[in-house]
Amino acid sequence: MERIDIENLAARIEGPVLLPGQEGFDEERTGYNLAVRHCPEVIVGAARAEDVAEAVAFAAAHGLPVAVQNTGHGFSVAAEDGLLVTTRRMDAVRVDPETHSAYVAAGARFEQVVPEAARHGLAPLNGSAPHVGVVSYTLGGGLALLGRTHGWAADRVRAMDVVTADGRLRHVTPDTEPELYRALLGGRDNFGIVTGMEFGLVPVARLYGGGLFFDLEQTPGILEAYGQWVATVPDEMNSSMALIPFPDDPQMPEPMRGRHVCHVRIAFTGSPEAGERLVEPLRQAGPRLLETLRDMPYEQSADIHNDPPIPMPWAADNAFLANPDGDTVRTILKHAGPGAALPTVVELRHLGGALARRPTHPNAVGHRDAHFMMAALIPLTDISPIDAHACLVRMFKDLEPWTSGRFLNFMGHGDAADQERTRTAYTSDDHRRLTELKAVYDPRNIFRLNYNIPPHTTP
Ligand SMILES: Cc1cc2nc3c(=O)[nH]c(=O)nc-3n(C[C@H](O)[C@H](O)[C@H](O)COP(=O)(O)OP(=O)(O)OC[C@H]3O[C@@H](n4cnc5c(N)ncnc54)[C@H](O)[C@@H]3O)c2cc1C
Repeated sequence: MERIDIENLAARIEGPVLLPGQEGFDEERTGYNLAVRHCPEVIVGAARAEDVAEAVAFAAAHGLPVAVQNTGHGFSVAAEDGLLVTTRRMDAVRVDPETHSAYVAAGARFEQVVPEAARHGLAPLNGSAPHVGVVSYTLGGGLALLGRTHGWAADRVRAMDVVTADGRLRHVTPDTEPELYRALLGGRDNFGIVTGMEFGLVPVARLYGGGLFFDLEQTPGILEAYGQWVATVPDEMNSSMALIPFPDDPQMPEPMRGRHVCHVRIAFTGSPEAGERLVEPLRQAGPRLLETLRDMPYEQSADIHNDPPIPMPWAADNAFLANPDGDTVRTILKHAGPGAALPTVVELRHLGGALARRPTHPNAVGHRDAHFMMAALIPLTDISPIDAHACLVRMFKDLEPWTSGRFLNFMGHGDAADQERTRTAYTSDDHRRLTELKAVYDPRNIFRLNYNIPPHTTP
């Protein structure tokens, strides 16, 4: 790549074009997970869809692989060479109350969409953290707070604008380009860079939601109680459970400080009275450290998980679990309960309900028959990535008897992001079909800095 090539590229791009060492380069490549950092040859800070198209065409012409980053909450493979497109400047959000839909550009976050939709008594199918990027979350499936009630966020997508490996900007709907539509939703960053997305909103203005906090040592039966309880609840009841080892640090909130806490999260779309009745058996499970359940406007739904907004380094992995039993609970507690080898945050999200249904228009979001999605996260503040990785490998190996696959949105990063693991995010039929579509849309695999789906090759 010659200097003149970069100058020509910069002249066609509205946003900044940055080279290593230039002012702004470090800030531009740094995302929410501080454990991994892109080290590209060049960054294109896209300000509009045409910038993305120029950047991809440039990379294709120079034989460079392409990575894309919005917030950096979920990237998997650091770009060691190649071209990085950042999308944070493309943050337009439009809500249409007539069609119950929203259009967002590639850099939009849920904290922009939720209040805009709430003005019309509507809600997107957002996840736990408002600071997550809408487009990538949805392309990865989008396991929503209201998933059991309203399904996967990906299933609501009506149209996408995407730049494919040939540098073309295409408008993709289930009618005009059904195969590319199907591949993008679940195949995420393997088929192009989505510059904008239109999706349906749901008519939800209020919730009965919040959390119940238990001390895991004082309430050893809480996991079993939660497991029995979820089998009894209707589809309007969305819940998850997290095991969180709070350090004994004065900065930690009382009464959590120094305790291994079990946090049960609730998002119920029925009446507050029905919600009260439904959670009563959980209250009976033991003494609570704290309870934050209440009738709330949907705009406050980020309080339910209270995910930290501050960037930090971490290692993570996940599994979809089918038919968990008492042995599953014992296995989880062995690896992430009091006395675990490393402080590990574990989250179990209850699936089923609308998450188990087929979408109106087929997509590649897999493992709809699982009962739970379990994610594990180890903060790397005082722990080496090698130790954390080994710990996660041991935990998920022991959980194999119940594992039906993995969820792309929580797959972790680095060496773990190989093609064999990528397969586990899909059914084998979907994976085969995705490799065939990859051969059509990205035969040179320029979108390979990711959980990669290789192009199918005929022997
Ligand atoms: C605190 C926290 C809470 C979360 N909660 C949930 C949840 O409730 N439910 C859930 O399903 N997930 C959840 N996630 C996972 C999250 O949805 C994924 O990590 C998602 O990929 C993040 O997207 P991003 O744009 O914010 O991050 P980025 O790291 O910028 O993007 C992740 C990857 O997506 C790809 N990508 C980004 N933009 C585009 C684009 N425009 N076109 C194509 N590919 C693109 C890139 O390869 C990129 O590396 C959570 C993650 C965190 C850290």
